Parts: sequence; C-alpha cells; structure tokens
Amino acid sequence: MKIKTPWNKPYLLIVANLFCNHQCSYCIQTKSSLDVRLNPRKIDVFAVLRFLERNRIDRSVKLMGGEATLHPDFEVLIEGLLKLYKKLVITTNLNGKWYRDFDSALRVMKSWGPRMQWNTTYHPAWMEADVYIERIRRMRDCGLQVGQVATTDTADLTPQTAEMLDNAAIGWKLQTFTGRSPEGRLLPQTWDDVNLKYPQLYSAKKYIENYHEYTQECEDANYADNVYREEWVSCTTSKFLIGPDDNVYPCHRHLYVGDTHYACGSIHDSEMKDFRFRWHNVLKKWTLPCNTKCNPCDFKSVIIRPTGRMNHAASSPAHRRKAS
Ligand code: SF4
Ligand code: SF4
Repeated sequence: MKIKTPWNKPYLLIVANLFCNHQCSYCIQTKSSLDVRLNPRKIDVFAVLRFLERNRIDRSVKLMGGEATLHPDFEVLIEGLLKLYKKLVITTNLNGKWYRDFDSALRVMKSWGPRMQWNTTYHPAWMEADVYIERIRRMRDCGLQVGQVATTDTADLTPQTAEMLDNAAIGWKLQTFTGRSPEGRLLPQTWDDVNLKYPQLYSAKKYIENYHEYTQECEDANYADNVYREEWVSCTTSKFLIGPDDNVYPCHRHLYVGDTHYACGSIHDSEMKDFRFRWHNVLKKWTLPCNTKCNPCDFKSVIIRPTGRMNHAASSPAHRRKAS
C-alpha cells in the first residue's frame, strides 16, 4: 500500500458549542442514543483566547457549532480572535436569536470588517427562504465577506425552494449530502459511495490509497457497534480542534464523542506542558496512536500507518458496550 506524504496545512477550528437552534434530521451531530446538539457545554472564551494568544497554530481560524452565535460570549470571542488572526471564517445558519434584530446584528457584523468571512448554510425546515435571501443580500450590500451560500441536498429542500434560491442570484449552491441518511447512518458508507457519489469531495488520488476496507477504516462513531480498529495505527493529522469541553482534539470523531481519552490536551494548559501529544509547530501536525475507526469527515484528511500492534479492545464486548 502506498503511503503518502503527511498533509501539512493546519486546520485550526473552534467548535464553540454543539447546541443549535435547529434540529436537522440529517445533522452529523445527532447521536443515536443522545442528541449532542442538546449538549450544554460551551468553550470558556477567555481561556481559549489566552491559549491562542500564546499558541497561534495558524494565521487563520475557523469557528462553528452547533450554532456558534448562540454562545453567550460570542461577540467577545469574535473581537478577541480578530485581534489575533488575519482571517476568521465562521460557519453559521444565519438564524437564531443573535440574528433576530437583524439591523443591530448587521451593525455589529459590519464593525468586524472584511477579515471575517461568513460561510452560511440554509436549512429549509427551520427558516423561510426569502428571509435567508434578504439577509445574504443585505450582508453583501454592507460589504461583508459572504463566502459559502449553500444548502445540503436533502429531502427537506423542495424543487420550488431550490428554484427560488437559484433565481435569487445570491451565489447559492447545492451541497453534496454528507450528513446522516434517513436511517440515521453517516454517509458515505462504502468506497463505492465515495467513488460514485462523492468524487468531488474525496479524491481517490489524495486519500483513498491509504485505506483498506471501508468498514475497517471508517465508522460512525456515534452509531456503530464496534468503533475500534483491529490494529493500532499511527495517525498524522493537521487538525487542531478546540471542543466545547475546552479540550483539544485531533479529529472530529473524537471531538463529537467528547472522549477525553483521545484528547491531546486542554486549552487551560496554555504552555501545552501536559499535552499527551506534541503539536509540531513547524510541520503543523500531530502524530499520535489511535485504536478507533475514523468518521467519514475525518478520514480524507489524515494519514494512517499500521503499527502491527493488535487492538484488544476491538474484540472485547465490554469495550464495545462502553463505546457504543
Ligand atoms: S443547523 Fe447545522 S448544526 Fe444545527 S442542527 Fe442543522 S445541521 Fe446540525
Ligand atoms: S485514526 Fe481517525 S479516529 Fe483516530 S485520531 Fe486519526 S482521524 Fe481520529
């Protein structure tokens, strides 16, 4: 099997909170037994800013939720991040209480200027399309940097609404569906899915050669009976993800489950003295041991190497129960 050069572009992301004003059926953050969108945890904004002041990690930072604008210290967070970074990209559903008085919201957004990019997603079950269209237009009229204007291709989107968004000339795009199927499983589910349904998202040239059988490598961490690999791997990842529990994670799979066994460290440790793994400041990556399968949203951007060490958890029913 061909091993590729590790991916070195850092990906610094703050997941401020997982709670959300929407309850989309296709949300990747839905767990079979517990809906993580109801998770009340939220980052300690002052501790995150202190940590990042000391450890910039990258020149730009991304922010998302749940819905990050619902964080009670959202504005303090943005102002702090804009002092530290050249660019800040937020992903938001452009709905929820922070946007309720849109004139006031717009004034604040304008004060943050063009270094902040607004990547928006429209979710048809929870918002009128004309409200979304008007908000996008007004943001652009104010000179805000609006990046993504998109809706995921699901049954929630009627052809009429799609036509309305398309005709609005706001740069709206239909996004390939990578969330949760109506049966509750994360997609893609097989290499055939990857190759046939998602060729624009998962390049076989870049990613796929590093992996064997899809079900041995990728699993829905919130759903599967067995989330463990048969063998430990060494994982190289350039993801530096700050979770709502103030822990730093190497991938979305571990962050969404909130399993602190797989956290690299805590942002309360701003010297990174007690971090279990070392963030390589020059190569911008972690290299860490892992015994679980990846989420589909992670596996395309990590490099894994077999270690030859058998993973006993993989065959232990007790561990399976604990993990599921
Ligand atoms: S808006 Fe996004 S985070 Fe919120 S429920 Fe929908 S898909 Fe999930
Ligand atoms: S192997 Fe997969 S689950 Fe494990 S740390 Fe890497 S990306 Fe995360």
